Amino acid sequence: MVGMNTLLEIHQRRHKENKCELKQTVTQPVFGDGNPKAKIVFIGEAPGKDEDLQGKPFVGRAGKFLNEMLETIKLKREDVYITNTVKYRPPNNRDPLPEEIKECLPWLIEELNFIKPKVIVMLGRHALNRFFPTEKISEVHGKLLKKKIGSISTENFFALYHPAAALYNGGMRETLIDDFKKLPLVLKKIK
Ligand code: URA
Repeated sequence: MVGMNTLLEIHQRRHKENKCELKQTVTQPVFGDGNPKAKIVFIGEAPGKDEDLQGKPFVGRAGKFLNEMLETIKLKREDVYITNTVKYRPPNNRDPLPEEIKECLPWLIEELNFIKPKVIVMLGRHALNRFFPTEKISEVHGKLLKKKIGSISTENFFALYHPAAALYNGGMRETLIDDFKKLPLVLKKIK
């Protein structure tokens, strides 16, 4: 339909307009990926080396772990949608800077409002703090958080430890795996 945006059009336009300085050092942008009609959207922090090279989110070790956890709840990557707060890899995987996050935020909001998921899963403290600036991931992980946020069409948020942080930390890994298994019930509870 004429005038009907597709996700790809959103990504291409946002990438073109984006003024983030990281654009100068990356191989390519990393757009969100997956089912545009997904009920669950996962939001990570920013692309790492593998993502920068392949142009897809969560394709390295953290991504493999994420895929394994999806399998435990009988979902495939193609069933969900996966994206990042920042679409460009920060050099040496440093944390994204506040201005880099700010520059990519309208892009994230536009893709979320296109997909209109039932629940937004925030992977790690960076994604959490975009929407809940004062919450601590150690306190709210594994809980359904409800909040009407300005222009975001979804009110349901769920925080998880970041798979990369949990990969080599036994306790955190167990907690993440347990929290992840709550997702089907969380979805069921949301009307
Ligand atoms: N970590 C993230 O936060 N995002 C990715 O895409 C990969 C690793």
